[in-house]
Amino acid sequence: QNLKKYFDVNNSNIFKNEKTLKAVDGISFGINKGETFGLVGESGSGKSTTGLLMLRLLSPTSGSVYVEGEDIYKYSKAKFRKMRKDLQIIFQDASWALDPKMIIEDILTEPLKIHNIVPRFEREKEVKRLLNIVGLSSKDMKKFPHEFSGGQRQRIGIAKAISTRPKFILCDEPVSALDVSIQSKILNLLTDLQKEYSLTYLFIAHGLNVVRHVSNTVGVMYLGKLMEIGKVDDIYNSPKHPYTEALISAFPHPDPKIEQKRIILKGEIPSPINTPSGCVFHTRCLYKMDICEKLEPKLTEVGENHKSACFLEEKVIENSKGGEKVEY
Ligand code: SF4
Ligand code: MG
Repeated sequence: QNLKKYFDVNNSNIFKNEKTLKAVDGISFGINKGETFGLVGESGSGKSTTGLLMLRLLSPTSGSVYVEGEDIYKYSKAKFRKMRKDLQIIFQDASWALDPKMIIEDILTEPLKIHNIVPRFEREKEVKRLLNIVGLSSKDMKKFPHEFSGGQRQRIGIAKAISTRPKFILCDEPVSALDVSIQSKILNLLTDLQKEYSLTYLFIAHGLNVVRHVSNTVGVMYLGKLMEIGKVDDIYNSPKHPYTEALISAFPHPDPKIEQKRIILKGEIPSPINTPSGCVFHTRCLYKMDICEKLEPKLTEVGENHKSACFLEEKVIENSKGGEKVEY
């Protein structure tokens, strides 16, 4: 709910005269239980920061995160510690989550112990069960993380995430580091687990091709803001925001008979420290109008459960200062 995360970079040597880095700049969205929200955008758009805020691994500058109606930032530390097991994370590179000096059995036993998931005498059985669920053999228990392939390590990362029987898992680019041939296997595993345990996912990805197959709803982020949000089919079949359109055009259409126009975006995503005025996308937008530099478009209803932040859709602009309406 209106999440913001600003970092103070005033004293940094790198950014001499600038004050604030707006990593996440006022975004709101909801995820239904048992569904997947795909959050996409280029590097530096604020996706991972959003994910960390949702897990209370980072505290917001303002805004709230509600889990089952309760603001998790209002919980005491002690109460939140108990809730921690409900909110898990799968990283892009499982190596980050797996201690290289520990064997798999110990890695998977640790969360069982900390959160008291099963009685002590059942822990070994539980580790074997978890390995089976993710498609690994219990014979692998005594091995170290480096003895596995990238895909297998991601399976261990997934086993660790589900070991606490969570409700919500932040999947932060879980397949980006894997070979394409392995990607779909991991995605299938994640969707199977979701069905089996009615898990709710925030699925972060760079491009739209990966989230398409796993998401119910998709949000497109750019420079800390949501540009467009909608049901997955609406986003793919009738994108309303020029940025979404460009992201979709980067991949071939699944139907080879349909020729897709390619939109090449100019330049790089601007620095989140010195964001463009008005519509933050205006420096790269093919449809830029004069107004786009001056005013900021709001996320506006463009269909059922579908919103876009672009003046091309917003026919009447409310001037926030004077309250008067400007037609163009
Ligand atoms: Fe492009 Fe203007 Fe729409 Fe921004 S508001 S996406 S600059 S047309
Ligand atoms: Mg990231």
